[in-house]
Amino acid sequence: MKKLFRTLCLVSCISSTVHAQEFSPEQIQQVAQVREAALNSDLSWQILESLTTEIGPRLPGTKNDKKAVEWAQSQFKALAFDKVWIEPATFPHWRRYHESASIITPSEQPLHLTALGNSVSTPKSGIQAEVVFFETLDELIASPEGSLKGKIAFINYRMNRHIDGNGYGPAVKARNSGAVEAAKKGAIAYMMRSVSTSHHRFAHTGGSHYKTGVTKIPATAVANPDADQLARLFKNGHKVQVKLNIQTEDLGEGTSYNVIGQFNGTTHPEQYVLIGGHLDSWDLGTGALDDGAGVALTMAAAKHISDVKRPKRSVRVVLFAAEELGLWGAKAYFKRHEKTLDNIVAAAESDFGADVVYGFESNVAASALPVVREIAKQLAPLNVKYIRKNAARGGPDLIPLKNTTSAPIFALHQDGTDYFDYHHTADDTLDKVDPKKLQQNTAAYAVLAMMAADAKTKISGK
Ligand SMILES: [Zn+2]
Repeated sequence: MKKLFRTLCLVSCISSTVHAQEFSPEQIQQVAQVREAALNSDLSWQILESLTTEIGPRLPGTKNDKKAVEWAQSQFKALAFDKVWIEPATFPHWRRYHESASIITPSEQPLHLTALGNSVSTPKSGIQAEVVFFETLDELIASPEGSLKGKIAFINYRMNRHIDGNGYGPAVKARNSGAVEAAKKGAIAYMMRSVSTSHHRFAHTGGSHYKTGVTKIPATAVANPDADQLARLFKNGHKVQVKLNIQTEDLGEGTSYNVIGQFNGTTHPEQYVLIGGHLDSWDLGTGALDDGAGVALTMAAAKHISDVKRPKRSVRVVLFAAEELGLWGAKAYFKRHEKTLDNIVAAAESDFGADVVYGFESNVAASALPVVREIAKQLAPLNVKYIRKNAARGGPDLIPLKNTTSAPIFALHQDGTDYFDYHHTADDTLDKVDPKKLQQNTAAYAVLAMMAADAKTKISGK
């Protein structure tokens, strides 16, 4: 027993010495300094205010998108990043021009609705047809062949509210492929309840897709109260006729740019921490939560680090292009850098609004866990809990990285309870961001990026 105890003690003593060596007391002091600076600075707010006010909506391929690319480069330069550059990304260029809808029978009333991204137009004069009601996408898929001929399909599936946004996945299936499944049964248009937790009368847009060989039909989402109204009419046994006019345009292939800023590392400049968000947004709001906040807080986090020191490795902020239309900037970035992805020592994207960060999670090799635990200790003063699952998925723009490499991924989990009240609506505006919470987010990203860049051991993935 005594011997076993001694062995355990020996192991833990050795391992705690290893931990302590990852960061010197001076480095830990510097981390505290950066954390305090971020908590007391309004830099991320100023950046976010500038992006959402001076530019506003940033649908890929629009004039505003081009302006945002210019804006991001000049912000990076004004913040004295060592290197600032752009890299092209192509995407399917789509524009929304007009959308209107109303219930015609049993009684005339307007519907608050929006076209889903990529949707085709109705004829100029619109269409009018009977609506067929489904509770879920599976119910629509199970409906008989040809049963929707000349009709409008409607899916009423309601998204659940949850802190980690886990209701999104099940709900978004109807947005991704509802129009294809409806068209297969003969429908001439598709409507769905918005992918939304809101009670407000805003329709939520978002990406949708067509399939080669299946007729492209207009694809739309109605605001939650309008979906409730339709559901009541069906429950009461009414035949519902809807009039719909959607005008959009497919403009072929567009080009935009990932905008990248970097503070160079002092001993291993080729190795880098990748933080960032996506620069584009939907056209309805000003993209404050999605994803102006992610852009602003990661830019500011890197700047706060550089004000205290240059870590051993570089800190790179990547502002991805055309995320909303299908992760096009991310695909281009990870393709372009595919031979040097081993240089990434940590990747984390902020793309879930700007509510408080409550959890910190890694997805790294076991050998890197001692560093991760040290980072967790320095995040604790921000009320960020260490989630030990070591299975972080990171933001959407990290999907192409995660799918093709074993790069080390990190997540700073934000409270997403209210995120889907505003997501992809006209209501995603600056007033929805709490400046104090934005500071806490900025501080958390600064701590993570600084420590991953400055650790003794290079963090590797699993
Ligand atoms: Zn986003």
